[in-house]
Amino acid sequence: MNEIPQHIPIKIYSILKKYKAKILKIAAEDYPDFIITPETTVTDFHKHLRNEAMKTRVNEKKIKEAESMVMAIHQLVYRSETKGRSREVEKTKEIVRIDRDWQLLREHVSEHHLRKVLSAKQAKKLLLEGNERYVEEIHGYQSHHEKIEKPKEYDVVIIACGDGRNVFPLFRDFINQRILVIQIAGNIYDQDSAVIKDTIKKVKNGGEILFVGHNNCGAVEAKQHVAKYTAEAQYTGKLLEGVDISHNSHLAHDDYEANTFNQAAKMKKNRTIVERSIKVIPCLFDFKNKGDNCFKYLGEGKEPEIVTDFRSSAIARIAAARNAGKDLTVQSVHSIVVAVSTDLGAFTDPRVILDAGLNDIFVVSIKGKRIDQTAIESINFPLRHVDNVKDNGNIVILATSKEVADEISKQLKLKSAIIREKGMISIALYNQETGRIEFLS
Ligand SMILES: [Zn+2]
Repeated sequence: MNEIPQHIPIKIYSILKKYKAKILKIAAEDYPDFIITPETTVTDFHKHLRNEAMKTRVNEKKIKEAESMVMAIHQLVYRSETKGRSREVEKTKEIVRIDRDWQLLREHVSEHHLRKVLSAKQAKKLLLEGNERYVEEIHGYQSHHEKIEKPKEYDVVIIACGDGRNVFPLFRDFINQRILVIQIAGNIYDQDSAVIKDTIKKVKNGGEILFVGHNNCGAVEAKQHVAKYTAEAQYTGKLLEGVDISHNSHLAHDDYEANTFNQAAKMKKNRTIVERSIKVIPCLFDFKNKGDNCFKYLGEGKEPEIVTDFRSSAIARIAAARNAGKDLTVQSVHSIVVAVSTDLGAFTDPRVILDAGLNDIFVVSIKGKRIDQTAIESINFPLRHVDNVKDNGNIVILATSKEVADEISKQLKLKSAIIREKGMISIALYNQETGRIEFLS
């Protein structure tokens, strides 16, 4: 209280003291960047707010610049579209390039105001803003093309770790192909998992399943230090049991690659997979690598085309995260999104629907009301170990029906002590027609 002079009348002194406490309470709740110590004064907070305002002005300038770039890109698209059929190839190349620049730019602009630590309330606001951008994108696309319909079966399934940094497909990938994205912590293949069983049913005969692991995977690192994690067995025992870091192939160079390779190898033996000639492809997303090596094919023989396709998206994602100044060495996400992935229509990845970039959200796929142990543990894991979300406990259920979402919420609390203790569950209803989400709580 050293900034309030003690010689002023006692009544005023106590009022000022009360106001100071109030102001600092606001500071603590709404400005997590602002660190409060016993010596912190209201003047310090005022300075912090002034700095924030400065940052906003800088951001505004950057957004203005970005807008003029967007206009230039639109003009380029227009020009390239009116070039005529004779130069079809150049036209396609140019559009692909413009599309990539556009993605980078969009992610760059959207991530300017991201804070280091976010409350559940702030996180939800970001999710809504991201969804707004997605709605615009769908709208823009559908005004020039046919309506995007929900596929009955999928050409490609991606089974990836839910890690906030393991993000690579972009909006355009879902336009080009029918993709089902499934997220499970540690990208483990659990043959009893309801999600895995359902996934196999939904991929077309002769289709492709990509197992995508990633570097710095928390589940793999937990397995490496399993002794340290014995107390963790009650929260993530089945997951850790599922992670397999034994080196069985010369194709896997480290534990992250080994786990991915082994999970894919297990799935390859599934009878339905064999009978229906579905290809299982192991890959590793290395977000520390900015070149072609960021998306590695871990299989034998010639690299499948689908891997090459996703590599360009992966490069764009990493570039966007770097431009936004994101630190990817540590996982830090503001939300855990629990999604009924097959209910999401053509865009089965919540990261696209919420326009989330690297290190924004942790995603766990579930089939519906029946939630298996792997999925529960995939939520327990970030609640225990991942920065930001382990403090704010923000869990968002993304579903298309309130009834289903309510049941999921009930089940999560019933089946997990850590969710009961730390979880702040809210429901985001997704409307496939409009692309919009709406928070019910
Ligand atoms: Zn992981």
